Amino acid sequence: MRLARKRLLSWYRANKRAMPWRETRDPYAIWISEAMLQQTRVETVIPYWERFLSRFPDVHALATADLDDVLGAWAGLGYYSRARNLQAAARVIDQDHGGKLPDDAETLQTLPGIGRYTAGAVASIAFDRPEPVLDGNVKRVLARLLGIRKDIGQSATLERLWEEAGALARGPHPGDLNQALMELGATVCTPRAPRCESCPVSQFCDAWAKGDAESLPIKARKKAARKVEAVTALVVRRGKALAVRRPSRGLLGGLWDLPGGDLVAGETPRAGLTRALRERAGLEISRASALPSQYVDGSRSARRLRGSQMARPSRNLLPAPRQPDRQSTRPAHLADRPILELTGR
Ligand code: SF4
Repeated sequence: MRLARKRLLSWYRANKRAMPWRETRDPYAIWISEAMLQQTRVETVIPYWERFLSRFPDVHALATADLDDVLGAWAGLGYYSRARNLQAAARVIDQDHGGKLPDDAETLQTLPGIGRYTAGAVASIAFDRPEPVLDGNVKRVLARLLGIRKDIGQSATLERLWEEAGALARGPHPGDLNQALMELGATVCTPRAPRCESCPVSQFCDAWAKGDAESLPIKARKKAARKVEAVTALVVRRGKALAVRRPSRGLLGGLWDLPGGDLVAGETPRAGLTRALRERAGLEISRASALPSQYVDGSRSARRLRGSQMARPSRNLLPAPRQPDRQSTRPAHLADRPILELTGR
């Protein structure tokens, strides 16, 4: 293990890809990069990270920013709960930790949105703490290296992987060691066609010796995506479309959207649209024309979205009392521009 660790460290130092967050020791900047890198490619993250840090250069700036500004800086990165959690955690750090990120994984995990992985990454990379990380790349590398031929979705297998990652992290330069494992998984020990002949730890690798690297790690088949029927309305008045803010929890929480929602069991599209407009926009409909339905695939569900257009809402709608989370926006380019941009942010 010690020799494998040494090889990984020297390989990482010679081969690591240039990334701007690797040039800093600022825990805040490292934390932001870790939050952005979840489910997102490095090349996509770089310009977002640079813009985010110039707009919110420290914990206090993020903690005191308007949530819409934070979501606007995040627009296009997806998984928006990450941005909301970042700000919620920044507020706790600002108020309870004097604006400085805690330097231990245990305290970091008490903050909103910071789980075991992010806590380990920040503690090891920013503070040199011997804490492990276990993302998809590290799971794959360790499963192959150690010949773990059990379903990595099982909690016992996952716990074993955390223990092995923890054993590797103990020693000099834990942050570099963790990054070496992630880098190896991203560039050499890839899901398909791993480049074992260029691997710095091939001589210790069980999967390489047995020739079954590509079949590891073992993952049980995922459940089929849940099918959801949804409705949405394009309410147009004087060249502008009505936008409403989504509930702060759940899918795309807190963002601006066209009014609508998921149908409940047994509900017709018409009844669902009537309910959704009443609940989300405080409007009553009397007439609407159907737009073509579309399928939208998400990570956990496949939605069939039925649209309705109300081009003359003065006839179709009975305005309800003014809603703070309603505003109108120009309907042009709705398909290809972020809604927050259209609402003038
Ligand atoms: S030898 Fe091959 S399978 Fe083993 S860790 Fe290296 S790249 Fe992965």
